[in-house]
Amino acid sequence: MKNTLFGALMCLLLFSACNSPKESTDLLILNATVLDVETGKEMPGKMIAISGDTIRAVLDIEESEKFTATKVIDAENQYVMPGLWDMHVHFRGGDTLVAENKDLLPLFLAYGVTTVRDAGGDITQSVLDWRQKINSGELDGPAIFTSGPKLDGPEPAWDGSIEVAGLEDIPAALDSLEQLKVDYVKMYDGSLTKEVFYGIIAAAEERGLKTTGHMPMSADILKGVDLGLDGSEHLYYVMKACSPKADSLTRVNPGYGMMDEIIDTYDPQLAQQVFQKLKENKVFVTPTLHIGKTLSEILDVDHSTDSLLPYISSGLQKTYGGRIEGAKRARASGSTMREKMEEKSLEMIKPMYDSGVPLMAGSDCGAFNSYVYPGGSLHNELERLVAAGLTPIEAIKTSVINGPAFFGLENSYGSIEPGKMADLLILNSNPFENIEKLREVSYVLAKGEIYEQEKLREMMQAVKQ
Ligand SMILES: [Zn+2]
Repeated sequence: MKNTLFGALMCLLLFSACNSPKESTDLLILNATVLDVETGKEMPGKMIAISGDTIRAVLDIEESEKFTATKVIDAENQYVMPGLWDMHVHFRGGDTLVAENKDLLPLFLAYGVTTVRDAGGDITQSVLDWRQKINSGELDGPAIFTSGPKLDGPEPAWDGSIEVAGLEDIPAALDSLEQLKVDYVKMYDGSLTKEVFYGIIAAAEERGLKTTGHMPMSADILKGVDLGLDGSEHLYYVMKACSPKADSLTRVNPGYGMMDEIIDTYDPQLAQQVFQKLKENKVFVTPTLHIGKTLSEILDVDHSTDSLLPYISSGLQKTYGGRIEGAKRARASGSTMREKMEEKSLEMIKPMYDSGVPLMAGSDCGAFNSYVYPGGSLHNELERLVAAGLTPIEAIKTSVINGPAFFGLENSYGSIEPGKMADLLILNSNPFENIEKLREVSYVLAKGEIYEQEKLREMMQAVKQ
C-alpha cells in the first residue's frame, strides 16, 4: 500500500518519465555507423539496443533516452556490421587432437568469425558437443553448423567417413546423419561412384537435407543440380562443366588428371550457361581461393614466421606434412595443375558473381590444410575475392549474407535489424572502403556476449604454444 502510494507520488513528480517508462536492455551501442551489407548503405548516428542474444532496436541516437542498459558501448567513429561466417572449416585429426581442435575456437572469435560451417571430419561427437555448449553459452566459440561425417565410397579418403558403396547403402547413411542431427550432408570423392553421388543427392532432397561437397570427376555437376544439389565445394566441378571437352575427357580418364585440359579448353560462353543454371537453382559455390593459393605456393613460401602459427598446436602442425609431401611429388612430376587452377579460379570469380551465382567465403582451415589458420584465413579468403574483382561489399556478402542463406536463415542473420541475432562486429575503420579494415576488430558480439579486445587477446594467449 505504502509502496503504491509512493509510486503514484513519483509518477506525479516525474510525469513524463512515467508516461514513457524506459525499456531496460542488456546493452546499448551508441553513436555507431551501421553498415548494411545488402544495400551497401552506411547509416551514421545510430543506437543499437540488445537484449540477450537478440537485437531489439536500431534507432537514431536521439531515441537512446528511451532505453536503459546494464552495459553501454560508445561506438563513436566506429562501424557496426554482422559477424563473419566461414563456410568451410574442418575440425579433425582423430581423438588425440580433440582438445587441440577445441583450442581453435577462440581464434575464430578473435577474427570476428561468429559462425563456421564444419565441412566434415572424424571427431563428430566432440563437434556436436561444442555446438550445443556454444549455443547454450557454456563455451566460447563461433556458432557451429556441421555436416558430421563425410559420405564417401568404400575406400574413404578421410577417417571417420561413412562408407556408401552402393545405392542400397544410401538410406542407412542418411538415417545415421539424421540421428546425429547434422545440419547438412557433405559428400567426398575418395571412392564415391557417380551413381551413388547422384543417388545421395536425390535421396537427401526427398528428406529435405541439403547436399554439397566434392564430386566424383566421372560425374556432371549439372546433372547433380537437376537432382537437387545445393552446393559445390572448391571450383573443380564447376570448372569442369565450363569445358566443351568435359564429356570426352571423362570417357578417357575420369579423374583430376583431366583438369589441365579442362582449364586449357575453358569456354567463357559455355561458362555463362553453367553459371545461369547454378543461379537459377540456387547452388552455393564455395571457391576456397586462399587455400588454393597457399597450397600452390607451399614449397616456395617460408611459413615459419607466420603470426598465427604459434597458436596451432604441435599435434596439428604435424598434420601439415602431408600437403607438403604432396606438393613435392607434384613438382617432381612436373605438374603445374595447382598453379593453373589458381589462375583460372581468379578469372572465374567475377563473371560467376555477376551472373548471380551465390558464392560463399570459406577458408578450408583446419588440420591437414597447411598454414590455413582458423579465423585469419577467412580474411585472406575475402581479400582474395577482392583481388579476383569483387568489391569489398560484394566479398563481405559472400560471408555474412550468403552464409546464412545457405541454411535458409536470412531472417535471423545478415543485417543489424530488430529481431536478428546479436552477432556483430564493431570496427575501427570502414571495411566497405578497404577489405583489410575488416581485420581491425574492436569488439565482437556473439549471441549478445561481448568480447572486447582485451578478452579476445587473453583467450588467444591461453592457446598459444
Ligand atoms: Zn575441406
